[in-house]
Amino acid sequence: MRFHRLTSYILTLVLLSTLLAGCMAPHGSGGQSPEDSEEAASESIREATPEVPEDSSKASSAQPSGKDDQEHTTVPEESGTPGAPVPDEPLSRPSGEEKTEPGATPPETTEPPLEITRTEVCLDESWAFAGFSAIHTGAAVLYHTNRGTGIVIGLNAGHGTRGGGKQKTYCHPDMTPKVTGGTTQAGAVMSYAISAGMTFRDGILERDLTLAAARVLRDRLLDAGFDVLMLRDDVDVQLDNVARTVICNNTAACHISLHWDSDGLDYDKGAFFMSVPDGIKYLENVAAHWEESEKLGTCLIDGLRERGVRIFKNGSYDMDLTQTAYSWIPSVDIELGNQCSEHSEQWLENQVEGLLQGIKAYFEQ
Ligand SMILES: [Zn+2]
Repeated sequence: MRFHRLTSYILTLVLLSTLLAGCMAPHGSGGQSPEDSEEAASESIREATPEVPEDSSKASSAQPSGKDDQEHTTVPEESGTPGAPVPDEPLSRPSGEEKTEPGATPPETTEPPLEITRTEVCLDESWAFAGFSAIHTGAAVLYHTNRGTGIVIGLNAGHGTRGGGKQKTYCHPDMTPKVTGGTTQAGAVMSYAISAGMTFRDGILERDLTLAAARVLRDRLLDAGFDVLMLRDDVDVQLDNVARTVICNNTAACHISLHWDSDGLDYDKGAFFMSVPDGIKYLENVAAHWEESEKLGTCLIDGLRERGVRIFKNGSYDMDLTQTAYSWIPSVDIELGNQCSEHSEQWLENQVEGLLQGIKAYFEQ
């Protein structure tokens, strides 16, 4: 873990010294300050998105509020063994540690000192689907390591956008109705721009835990040589699900959002990823990437399984998500458990290690 601590230390130094130049927009002109962009942005939304029929808005506002989620969920109960115990083997240590054989000569290294830079990335309104976002005055943060593969992992700590439940966005970029249930019911044309997330049975908020897990995974990914785009790098970011997805589409090689499911069960049913329902595979962007998305989801589940994490059924469940419908890259919503799941710091680190192994396996294919 020495290397991990070193990275965190250097990261802290870099963060302090680089409260950097405003927003970077890798493509196009973008780059307005958050303060400037809101009004212009809403102008562009008015131009880009047709009027919402009043009745469809009423229909979708009949959803339960604040229950959860991105727009998932409520996966049916597992038919198997309610209350079956979580495996209680001792956690094995993460495999990424540096090891030195006794008596071995440390290899000479000519590597430059590790350097991690931090750059803000805002939504560029010229990007495809950007006009569908309702909340986008915040910025994602790109962490770049000089020792990297150059592969950028888009990491989305689910929820954490104040006011996200007061606005709505189209479920699909072609404005067709949602094909599965979830927080927003099937048939609705619009869903919450981003919901507040659920509360664990011990009172912990899902959005706090997704951020904690994303930060641990960010550091492990940087250690492993990946760059990381943190769609939410703090307690709150003013980016809704569409904005997060569009930024990811234009900046990252894949999009992984972290969640815990809100299903009302009184036991931990296990982890799974949200697979792509047949009903949205006709969308051009979904058709181009859904198979890769499911490969990535399967790799993540395999990684979790290897770390002793309980898996729900076969590890996937079809769900029509905004994230999926707007993605132009491989994109996965992973549910690390539900409101009953273990979530100690040690267990989170174990789950993160599983995700890291899954990401490595996916990119090594
Ligand atoms: Zn969630």
